[in-house]
Amino acid sequence: MELNLLTIDAARSAIQERKTTSMALVESFYARIQKEDSAIGAYLTLTRERALEQADRIDRLAAEGKPLPPLGGVPVGIKDVMCTRGVRTTAGSKILENFIPPHDCTAVARLEAAGAVVLGKLNCDEFAMGSSNENSAFHPVRNPRDLSRVPGGSSGGSAAAVAADMAVVTLGSDTGGSIRQPASFCGVVGLMPTYGRVSRYGLIAFASSLDHIGPLAKNVKDTASVLRTIAGRDPMDSTSADVPVPDYVAEIDKPVSGLKIGMAEEYFGDGLDAEVRKAVEDAIQSLAKLGCDVVPVSLPHTEYAIPTYYIVATAEASSNLARFDGVRYGYRAKNARTLAEMYRRSRDEGFGAEVKRRIMLGTYALSAGYYDAYYLKAQKVRALLTQDFDGAFRKVDAIVTPTSPTAAFQLGEKANDPLAMYLADIYTVTADLAGIPGISIPCGQTREKLPADWLADSW
Ligand code: GLN
Repeated sequence: MELNLLTIDAARSAIQERKTTSMALVESFYARIQKEDSAIGAYLTLTRERALEQADRIDRLAAEGKPLPPLGGVPVGIKDVMCTRGVRTTAGSKILENFIPPHDCTAVARLEAAGAVVLGKLNCDEFAMGSSNENSAFHPVRNPRDLSRVPGGSSGGSAAAVAADMAVVTLGSDTGGSIRQPASFCGVVGLMPTYGRVSRYGLIAFASSLDHIGPLAKNVKDTASVLRTIAGRDPMDSTSADVPVPDYVAEIDKPVSGLKIGMAEEYFGDGLDAEVRKAVEDAIQSLAKLGCDVVPVSLPHTEYAIPTYYIVATAEASSNLARFDGVRYGYRAKNARTLAEMYRRSRDEGFGAEVKRRIMLGTYALSAGYYDAYYLKAQKVRALLTQDFDGAFRKVDAIVTPTSPTAAFQLGEKANDPLAMYLADIYTVTADLAGIPGISIPCGQTREKLPADWLADSW
């Protein structure tokens, strides 16, 4: 049995049936990390002690013949924007390099309560701002499918860890595509739930009206198991939805025949790589063969999604990141003579270039003279984008699009061109702005053997 290749159910039953132990599984994942991760760079912190304690708990249950919880003994990795009590949580930033939170993120606590074993914290773009993982203050992550390429971002570590068999599943966060795009670049499944479906308590905020926590895994079923575990109302997050959580796993085997699949021409226009287009079109054909009805839909405001996203997200970021001032927690500049100098230098020395760019853009968009022209306008366009989806979902059950216009690009290729990097988010930011869910599923390979993915959004 190849322990590193097990899915959730296979891992749990192997431990339950005593074909292996949770301890052996954890050790085999740490051995794999030890061997592979110096070249990939997915993990920032390993939580060996916490993992072994949990593994021991699970092994005792199995030894006593008691039924294991749904994720009993499953090794997972957590994007380093989710707080873990007593474990360093950096958000990929120097400003939080030594931050040890006093609390657990609800999603992480729910995973552990369901028996999952946290192996460690995963690298990401600083404060989840980026599409390539090159904005981590520590080191970039490399794509396990081709080490000269980026794994995508901002949840690059989360996608790379799953792709390189260094975790069974991981948690990522998605504000403008950061679960789905890295999943696509690394050839794994990435699910962004509906806004409010999963509590954001303990997630280090980037843009609160857009932030989502969700799973990355080797297959759709494992994302469903994780979602079933982490979803649901949490009194610690007033925006978490008080809606019952269905059994997503039980729904999975239902046939797709009869489903209406929307195809939006706005997602197949200029800039879409020909090989990615072909792979997605073939996937749509396969759905048609399985009995889906493919229906054209129109999402006419798509062309405004990027500017809208980069105003709303930066405005919220500028406000959320005001808390990092060197006073309450995080990095504090040495030898400042005045309070104002201490604030200024702490932020200047603690934040990286992209984070500063976002804070400046957002502060500008919110400033008194420009608020109506930028922020208010962006909110109005956001409503139009949402209406586009409302209209489409009156006709179809799901919309299939490419996840990213291209497969994974080379490290350094777009690092000095922020606009090119922003434009590549075109197919993902719309779902975040509209609050709808989205899943990226591998559907083929380019000639260079890089994964291409399609993305389904459904109501
Ligand atoms: N690439 C987008 C950005 O840089 C998305 C980030 C995210 O979803 N966290 O903002």
